[in-house]
Amino acid sequence: MPKNGKKDGKKGAKSREASSSRNGGDYPRHSVSPGEKMVLAAVDADQSEHYTRKKDVEEELEVQRQRIQDLQARQYAENKQGLLIVLQAMDTGGKDGTIKHVFSGVNPQGCRVSSFKAPNPEEANHDFLWRYHKSVPARGRIGIFNRSHYEDVLVVRVKNLVPEEVWRARYGLINDFEYNLTRGGIAVIKFYLHISKDEQKRRLESRLADPDKRWKFSTNDIKERAFWDDYQVAFEDAINNTSTEYAPWYVVPANKKWYRNLVVARTIANTLEAMDPKFPPAEPGLEKISIPD
Ligand code: AMP
Ligand code: MG
Repeated sequence: MPKNGKKDGKKGAKSREASSSRNGGDYPRHSVSPGEKMVLAAVDADQSEHYTRKKDVEEELEVQRQRIQDLQARQYAENKQGLLIVLQAMDTGGKDGTIKHVFSGVNPQGCRVSSFKAPNPEEANHDFLWRYHKSVPARGRIGIFNRSHYEDVLVVRVKNLVPEEVWRARYGLINDFEYNLTRGGIAVIKFYLHISKDEQKRRLESRLADPDKRWKFSTNDIKERAFWDDYQVAFEDAINNTSTEYAPWYVVPANKKWYRNLVVARTIANTLEAMDPKFPPAEPGLEKISIPD
């Protein structure tokens, strides 16, 4: 069990209270409670609390980034606990932008991003979790999954890549996998960056219009967009079946990129803080040491 108290409802609530008073917010905002029937269509992708523009959050985002940097330095030195951060979204949902803006300044030595595309032949010849398990962070590290094992109940479901009985059984297998990680000292948090269909249109248009963004445009995104509603159902089911006390989902309103960055940064900082990583004690007797010339 990680020390973030996620498995113990009471402890979790306490650490959340502590964090919320420090941050002046009602953390954990946007989390999905275990057993909750979250309805994606009811989540306003445009919401941004009381903030109205990017300038309103700039200072707080910097504070949250600094908290992540400090806590990550402790976690690295302590070398007892790790954190896996899962990022999922519709195409153009902002996974790359979130990584860039939230993790700028974090020591690269303690942090690794793993991106997952369609499995290669070797990966496809193993159980679906094999390639993800190989990439989970070690103790002392932060791992970011840009797409993840959830693709195996999302694109795989929408595109009928395996029969329903196969992908449906994966919810339980994913919960067991994540529970195993938390028992091994690796905390797990998961973000769904929620954009509206209109916002995706705007972002695809801007990729087409801007020569510096055109490289990001894929005609495949247009094909996938036709399956928007199927993907929304697949995300909703996946999130509702796998948001647990030990590995919670956060559905982040993501039409406003600056608000999305703030929510993700704040949630990561609060999670790390609840894990309470500590610098190891120094060797005894250091006060008597003088460095020879
Ligand atoms: P991108 O992130 O835009 O480079 O696209 C990666 C592509 O890989 C997306 O179309 C995903 O749906 C696809 N992908 C990722 N994981 C899987 C998987 N397990 N099975 C099939 N397709 C996948
Ligand atoms: Mg893409």
